[in-house]
Amino acid sequence: MLQTSSHDVIVIGGGPAGSTSATWLARHGYNVLLLEREKFPREHVGESLLPFCYSLLDDLGVIDELKKNFVRKPGVRFIDRDGNISTTWCFDHVIKNETYLSFQVIRGEFDHILLRNAAKNGADVREETSVTNADITSSSDQVTVTSLDSAGKESVHTARFLIDASGREAFIGAKSGWRKAREELDRTAIWSHWGDVKLSGGLEEGLSIIIYMGLEQKGWIWVFPLGENRITAGFVAQNSYIRDQQRKLKGSGSKDWKQDLCMQELLHSKYVQGLLEGSKMLIPTQINGNYSYEVKNHYGSNYAMVGDARGFVDPIFSSGVFLSIKSASLVSTAIHKQLTGEVNGKNEAMETAYQQITGAYNFVHRMIKLFYNPHSVTWAQAGADGEAHKNHESAMAAGHYMLSGDFFENYKKFEGFFEILEDPEQFRRYKKLVIDRDEFVQPTCSSRWDEVFKDMVQRDQERTAGTRDLVVL
Ligand SMILES: Cc1cc2nc3c(=O)[nH]c(=O)nc-3n(C[C@H](O)[C@H](O)[C@H](O)COP(=O)(O)OP(=O)(O)OC[C@H]3O[C@@H](n4cnc5c(N)ncnc54)[C@H](O)[C@@H]3O)c2cc1C
Repeated sequence: MLQTSSHDVIVIGGGPAGSTSATWLARHGYNVLLLEREKFPREHVGESLLPFCYSLLDDLGVIDELKKNFVRKPGVRFIDRDGNISTTWCFDHVIKNETYLSFQVIRGEFDHILLRNAAKNGADVREETSVTNADITSSSDQVTVTSLDSAGKESVHTARFLIDASGREAFIGAKSGWRKAREELDRTAIWSHWGDVKLSGGLEEGLSIIIYMGLEQKGWIWVFPLGENRITAGFVAQNSYIRDQQRKLKGSGSKDWKQDLCMQELLHSKYVQGLLEGSKMLIPTQINGNYSYEVKNHYGSNYAMVGDARGFVDPIFSSGVFLSIKSASLVSTAIHKQLTGEVNGKNEAMETAYQQITGAYNFVHRMIKLFYNPHSVTWAQAGADGEAHKNHESAMAAGHYMLSGDFFENYKKFEGFFEILEDPEQFRRYKKLVIDRDEFVQPTCSSRWDEVFKDMVQRDQERTAGTRDLVVL
């Protein structure tokens, strides 16, 4: 027999966006049902978090658990394609409290912490339950959702509001024909995790490393530390390049073209080559295609899209989780207003939320276009500090704030910095007056080992001790 249930809010997907929305709305006392297709922990890409996540995660109540479990991230280092020029952006240049120290997370574990937190706060979380249909058209203040669980049981749920947080599946957008690829950013990512790595080049301080690749690939490599000797590393390249290489590798007898291509591209970088020597791959090679897309009609009277379900832009600046949890928080506040009856007709809180959200996504998109424009400056060159010129000094600060995540409330503030980076003449002057200071080309934010790794290592020791006790018993 078909099961039926009725709720205030239904959330599709238990990634960071879904868990954040469910936590906030459950805390407000709503009956929230969260449906997640997978059994957590499940593997996911997107491990490096921006410092502006910190306060949001603190408000969600998970910050102490995160501190115990993950590497801390004080900044990011961009390296040019020849490996000759690099710039290290340290968040403590502009953030003067503890939130400057962000996180490099293992997403399977991170997402699980957030999902459990949603349940702890009162949401009804059901894993291994796929949403198969969602009707947002039959009534303006009710939705009907159909789900299928792992035992094959189909259920129908109704709610006053639906949140689509289904990630890159973009459930409502895809089903309604509202999802459109961003052709200019057609890319694919191939990646894995490695253990037994001797961290160097800034990784040993928790820094993210981003390396420009050749123009042929139109892409980049990431390397982030996930533990004292564990890294995530991968590359992003244009789809046409990936297809060509796939053909070549298969033609020359490759049995696992994804893994072979991943190694081929990573080993182009001498730095990564050094890191991977003697290491071991920890998870099978992963691939993420159909890269960047935009979805129309982000919200209506009875639904809203948050996180990747609302749109996805290239992750070069590690902005995805922040965009997702910040959007989810803003939208949850607007939904609360609507459900308490503070809104009569037009929901202005929702309009304001989506103005900020769209402003932030467009801002990140502009940063990304600049990154891929071969005629403009590279981030490997753009980070130098300077006292010589006031405007350029504030431009330098703007760069740090942008990389930290200050682009929701303040996305309009950084126009000037974009203009400097985009205009070759202005940039030449900026470079002459400001760039090339020693501290910016060093691979360091002067972070101490205990700031970056201590809590996590202590947790591992406690776990090992716990296991030993069990064995003795
Ligand atoms: C190559 C690459 C590198 C990246 N690197 C970074 C990075 O370094 N830092 C960063 O912040 N971001 C990064 N991102 C982006 C980041 O991964 C995403 O922005 C983030 O995971 C979005 O969170 P979400 O909650 O919207 O979606 P997700 O985390 O994808 O969660 C969506 C959930 O919905 C579930 N779901 C889907 N369909 C259904 C359904 N029909 N029924 C029930 N459940 C469903 C899925 O199982 C999933 O658990 C990267 C992305 C890519 C592709």
